[in-house]
Amino acid sequence: MKEWPVVGHRWALQQLHHAIATGEVPHALLITGPESVGKHTLARQLVAAMLCRADPGERPCGHCLSCRKLVSGNHPDYMEVVSGDRTAHLRIEQIREVERFLSLTPNESSCKIALIGDFERATTGAANALLKTLEEPPAYAHLILLATDAEVLLPTIVSRTQQLVLRPLSTQEVESALTSTWGVEGERAGHLARLSGGRIGWAVRATADPEAATPMETAVEVLVSILYEDLPSRFARAQDLARDSAMLAETLEAWLTFWRDVLLQQTGNVEALVNLEQLELLASLGKAVDVTTTLRVLTELEEAQEAVLANANAQLLVENLLLELPSLAS
Ligand SMILES: [Zn+2]
Repeated sequence: MKEWPVVGHRWALQQLHHAIATGEVPHALLITGPESVGKHTLARQLVAAMLCRADPGERPCGHCLSCRKLVSGNHPDYMEVVSGDRTAHLRIEQIREVERFLSLTPNESSCKIALIGDFERATTGAANALLKTLEEPPAYAHLILLATDAEVLLPTIVSRTQQLVLRPLSTQEVESALTSTWGVEGERAGHLARLSGGRIGWAVRATADPEAATPMETAVEVLVSILYEDLPSRFARAQDLARDSAMLAETLEAWLTFWRDVLLQQTGNVEALVNLEQLELLASLGKAVDVTTTLRVLTELEEAQEAVLANANAQLLVENLLLELPSLAS
């Protein structure tokens, strides 16, 4: 089978290669995984392979008429609904458009494919509207949904799809891809790979835009100050943070890497640490709190992250989280 230009996710690639080779691509596929882990890249390769006219083992060939139309955004049998705005909801009208698109028979191919990104941002109305298509899809229709986490979707949606779970890549995988494919210098590749938390898309963006890494670094600095702040200051901080959900998502991601480091420090796995700039603080924090506290903070951070993804009111969770963080003030 032709190698697809996807970093990592070997197991998922095997599944999809097999599906292409046997012509058994599921009618409803749900690809889940953290933001920027490579869901969209993988889905686009699958779509290209499904529409390509070359032999199954050669797909996607990249030069047949189908492949060229897809790249230029003009393939009549493919529709993509992705929002550029990270805070916008996926609306019922957008789902109706997908339904209309899939209800008409294919123009040039044997199948018709719709890809919907960020499905965790679908309103309940939009998700319910999609159920009908999921229940009785036309034989030629394929639907690919992307979402950060199946747990925040309606169970009735998840149960009608075949799920492909993408996990964060290893720091090693991200680092070697940055060096070999994107030509990033060794030390910087290592730094970005560690900051990325295994999200290759984030690392590649940070490569092109030096400012991209700054919010993650700032988030850790903010966390460090919070550890020394009193309760009223923390409360004000929480209200501030909860205001911008896109920013909050990045902040929580950075805090998770920090607290995972605290745990690594406490369990003696220092060679896997990410926040190498904060070694001294990690060491003193690792001694000041016990492992149970660290695990509790990690759970709370993950819960807050899920709340943000599900568009739930994150303010209360962030307030609780900040008020319960251990204090290093003497
Ligand atoms: Zn092709």
